[in-house]
Order: sequence, then structure tokens, then C-alpha cells
Amino acid sequence: MINELIQYRSDFPVLQQKINGNQLVYFDNAASTQKPIQVIQCISNYYQSTHANVHRGNHYLSQKATEQYENARKTVQHFLNAKSQNEIIFTRGTTESINLVATVFGRMMIKAGDEIIVSAMEHHSNIVPWQIMALERGAVLKVAEINTNGELLVEHLQSLMSEKTKIIALTHISNTLGTINPVKEIIKLAHQANIAVLIDGAQAVPHLKVDVQELDCDFYCFSGHKVYGPTGIGVLYGKEKWLELLPPYQGGGEMIESVSFEKTTYNRPPFKFEAGTPHIAGALGLAEALKYINNIGVEKIAAHENQLLHYTTEKLLNIQGAKIIGTASHKAGVISFLVDGTHPGDIGMLADKMGVAIRTGNHCTEPLMRKWNLPGTARASFALYNTFEEADVFINALNKAVKMLR
Ligand code: PMP
Repeated sequence: MINELIQYRSDFPVLQQKINGNQLVYFDNAASTQKPIQVIQCISNYYQSTHANVHRGNHYLSQKATEQYENARKTVQHFLNAKSQNEIIFTRGTTESINLVATVFGRMMIKAGDEIIVSAMEHHSNIVPWQIMALERGAVLKVAEINTNGELLVEHLQSLMSEKTKIIALTHISNTLGTINPVKEIIKLAHQANIAVLIDGAQAVPHLKVDVQELDCDFYCFSGHKVYGPTGIGVLYGKEKWLELLPPYQGGGEMIESVSFEKTTYNRPPFKFEAGTPHIAGALGLAEALKYINNIGVEKIAAHENQLLHYTTEKLLNIQGAKIIGTASHKAGVISFLVDGTHPGDIGMLADKMGVAIRTGNHCTEPLMRKWNLPGTARASFALYNTFEEADVFINALNKAVKMLR
């Protein structure tokens, strides 16, 4: 197999090490990706040369930091093809972005008896914030079902939509199953019924081209650390009409226009939703990561990961008793699997001894595990820097682990 992205691998210092005496094979990318030297240096340069608080000072460093921070926002805007930079809010990550929307949308738009729809394959981060809000508002959470391949049953989702439904919160790509959901089609159906849609893009942004105007979603969320950027930074995209309408999330500096003990007025979006000093270095690092993947081309990355997915899937299924959980026809580079007669936790531990990092457990999708009566799964997930040789090492390690455990 020809690996067209091999030249980029050396940009990732963390990959150049041995773990337990073996060359590291990092296949836990759905949990978090490694960082290229360009991102690491960008953060280091910022702290070494231009750090000051943003939007507050009229001195040189503060203005420089503000300019860089706002340029980072523009980079995200162009990356998502948002209409305006005012539609980009920096958050701590996908989890905070969803909590923000659930809280403020709930406060203004949800009354007792209203309904919210999620799907059976959601990450806890796209379930629990809605449950908290539903409990507070007396609303009801409905769950759209999936088939045995792990594909969303769009007709079932549609049958749940009613005049009581106020918002649908759906993952673009499942972190456990790899399923790519037909979000554009669902957004269209939802809008015909006057329902808002939030898309959890944590797993999608690193793997496919996202265009929020083309999707026409109301909200889109992702995390920096899953897209080769830093931890502690993420994005909430919201249509300007929503961000103008909805109340603020947290109170504090930056989100205000004027404060008095009698009455406080709020800043315009996006600042209305960015209370307190933001993660400036994180925003810069995220923008650098987005430039990095733009430079390679998201489509090229997706094609490479797709090849890895098919190559590894085929080899894995040659292992006697191996079963893949999540076999959607439209799937990203995530392989959840089980092997008869072994526990996924043991597989993960033995793989680690051979230098192969995979994830085991419920992947923060406990309702999905319960629905399918699974003890958890082992999961290999790919990124741009992974190679076919690494897939071979992984399969060898898996074969050895299975032999030992049986
Ligand atoms: N949604 C999905 C689909 C995810 O995979 C994750 C991370 N595993 C999250 C939400 C939460 O992301 P974060 O922890 O970065 O906020």
C-alpha cells in the first residue's frame, strides 16, 4: 500500500518513542490526537513573545495577543465556512459547547412538556447536558434508534419529531461505531418541522470537510485536542440569529457591555458567550492545527484513513472469533471490536505491553453498550500519521494477545 501522508509523520515528536521496549503504535486517536511540532512551537512562541490578556489593554502586547486571538477565530470561521467570525465561540471543548447550548437554549426556548431528540449512539457529552436541562425545564428526552449495523434509523427519528420537539442533538460521527450520520438530510427534515439542530462534530472535524452553511445546522461543536490541537480549547459554532437571541451562559468579564448594580447589559456575540480570560494560547494552537490539516487537505486525510480502515478491518476479521461492532456502510476510521473468549480490557493491556495504544471500555457511550449488552469493546482509531506497517504491528499484537488469553 502506498502511504501518501508518510512525509508528515516526522512532524509528531511523541510518535518517535518506544513504549515498553517497542516502537509506539498510537491507535487511540478518537480519544485524542497527537500534536505536530508546528502546533507545539506556536504555543511556545506565543508564551515567549506576545502573551498578555486580550481585549483589555491598550499596550502593545495586549493588542498583539488580541489580534492573534481574533485571527484564530477567523481561521476557525474559514475552516467551518461560517458566514461570520461572530458565529465562532471559543469554549473548553465539545462538552462545554454542548452544555452551553443546552443551558441557554433550555432557559429561553424550552418549557414543560417540550421534547429534545438525541440518538442511541450519542457520547455522554451529548446526552447528560440535555438530561440536566430536561429535568430543570420539565422537558422530555426522546431517543432515535439505530439498526444492528449501528446506522441511525432516520425514519424512526422522523417519527419522533412533533410540534413539541424543540431541538435535535446528534453526533456527526460516532466515536464508538465510526458511523457517519446523514446529518444534512436530518437537518433539512428538522427545519421543515421548525426544529433546531445541534451537531456534535468532535469526531467529524478531523476526518471530513465540514461546511456549516452547506449543512445549515444551527449549532456545531468540536474539540481542539481531537484535531491535532491543544487540550482545553474547543469551538461552538452558532447561527448568528441564535447567538443574538439566546441569553449568556456565564457571567463575568468580557461578556458585558456595561455593569451597574441596578442593571447589566451584555456584549454582542461571540463575546457574550466568552466570560473571563479565554484560553488564548489554546485558540492560537487550534488555529495552527487547522492550518496544518488544511495544508495537507482534509479530503486526503480522509482517503488515507479510509484505506487504513479497510486494510485493518480485513486483517482483523481473519482472527478467529473476531467481531466488529459498528458496520455501517458509511463509516470513518474507527474499529470497535471483540474477540470471542477474551475480555477487551485484557486485549488492551496486552497490546500496550507490545507498544500498541488502543482504547478499551464503553467509550463514554454506556447506553449504547447496555442496549447491545456489551461489556465494552476494544477500539482502534486512526489519524493522518498512522501507517499500514503500524496496522500490521497491531494485528500481530492482537494475534499474540488472543493466543495468550485463550
Ligand atoms: N462527542 C464525541 C462524539 C466524542 O467522541 C467526544 C470525545 N470522546 C466528545 C463528544 C467529548 O469531547 P471533549 O471531551 O473533548 O469535550
